Amino acid sequence: MDSENHYGLHIFLFPFMSHGHVIPTIDMAKLFASRGVKSTIITTPLNVPFISKAIAKSKTPYTDDDIHIQTIKLPCVEAGLPEGCENTDSFTSAVLLPNFLRATRLLQEQFEEQLLQHNPDCVVVDHFFPWVTDSASKFGIPTLMFHGISFFSLCAKNCMELYQPHKNVSSDLEPFVIPGLPGEIKQTRSQLHEYLTSAEDTDMSRFFKEVSESEEKSYGVVVNSVYELEKDYADYYRNVLGRKAWHIGPLSLCNSDTEEKAQRGKDASIDGNECLKWLDTKKPNSVVYVCFGSIANFPDSQLKDIATGLEASGKQFIWVVRKSKKDGDEWLPEGFEKRMEGKGVIIRGWAPQVLILEHQATGAFVTHCGWNSTLEGVAAGVPMVTWPVAAEQFYNEKLVSEVLGIGVPVGAKKWLRLTGDSVKWEAVEKAVRKIMEGEEAEEMRKKAKVLSNLVKGAVEEGGSSYTDLNALIQDLSSLRR
Ligand code: UDP
Repeated sequence: MDSENHYGLHIFLFPFMSHGHVIPTIDMAKLFASRGVKSTIITTPLNVPFISKAIAKSKTPYTDDDIHIQTIKLPCVEAGLPEGCENTDSFTSAVLLPNFLRATRLLQEQFEEQLLQHNPDCVVVDHFFPWVTDSASKFGIPTLMFHGISFFSLCAKNCMELYQPHKNVSSDLEPFVIPGLPGEIKQTRSQLHEYLTSAEDTDMSRFFKEVSESEEKSYGVVVNSVYELEKDYADYYRNVLGRKAWHIGPLSLCNSDTEEKAQRGKDASIDGNECLKWLDTKKPNSVVYVCFGSIANFPDSQLKDIATGLEASGKQFIWVVRKSKKDGDEWLPEGFEKRMEGKGVIIRGWAPQVLILEHQATGAFVTHCGWNSTLEGVAAGVPMVTWPVAAEQFYNEKLVSEVLGIGVPVGAKKWLRLTGDSVKWEAVEKAVRKIMEGEEAEEMRKKAKVLSNLVKGAVEEGGSSYTDLNALIQDLSSLRR
């Protein structure tokens, strides 16, 4: 590695065991390694293959001295989880989340042993592990919190917690403005995370209170974003909410060649090159890419509506569905695949998302607004149909459609973990047509291309994310001295 930039720093990275958290963490480790900073990724055995494969397929040949993987054992059964349930990807039901969080809390002792043994200079900790801030401070080690969300959502979340405007509306569907947040952003109670709408002393509400306290106790926050993309919100987070934050994204852009981009997360269910070859046969901006991330899992009735809506739109598509061949085809309208031959591809399982998004034939992205997917869409310069499901995705929808002006909401109204709100096929057809046809679509596409160039520039030498990563490394080096 670049020895001139080598500060001799060693950072622990501890991602929540979910692809949407592990993937950007691997990218962060690569980014640190490219500046000569050693990372150790702490995870559980069943998550190792995703990480080691991504590192092995990197264009830069990273060694174990650059990025090391350290395993700790997740006590699944003790916490009421099925054996081997080490990633949210294996959740069959949303009710497993509290048990999963309980299991991760039982990692404390093993984690502290690792701190004692390796004495890292800093821990980048996932916000799902709020207890880590106290563990690290026992050993005098600073923590940086990584929520994996946008500045916009960090601010919206903080404003909602501070001002609780949802308590002053008379119905779940009555819109209110999020107080304090720049831009007159509206939400409804039905779109909020359950920890805000449930009674104050549930496990979830207590947990998120602890997360906020831990954020305040941490040395600062690392954000997978770009200053120029959400300037007002980056400023608000730092200057009004008073948090120390470094923006170092888009993390996905640290992957440079096809092989590297194809190896993020699980093994793709389609050969990356095959997928690209299919896209090569299509005209620029003529294909809609439809994918809802690694957790959302729609019921069959919803999948049928998506299929019907896509067919009615007349657009070509690549659609990722969390099903395998052995699940049969009951969830598809009769004869759908036959009719769609040559027009649409269904990927059952996992797609090489970044490769697909970056292909010139891809003209729009129907997304659940997970922050990684959203930022990957921005980096690729594609306008989006926003279809938030849960987590902070309803905030991201506002950022994409109202602040950035590159999205059309499909009309999901209700926050619902895993399954999401029900959306009818007519709404799918309408949103897909709106993002693909006409002047407004053309305008959004132009804006999306401008934003793509802007975020790509941020990671180039001298760009804002490049510079802020340097500042972070300098800061950690001076703490060390
Ligand atoms: N992803 C992928 N292929 C898939 C589904 C997801 O590569 O078929 C990747 C996607 O590129 C992103 C991550 O998985 O990096 C999903 O993270 P996001 O924050 O968008 O959503 P989550 O899965 O956390 O809901």
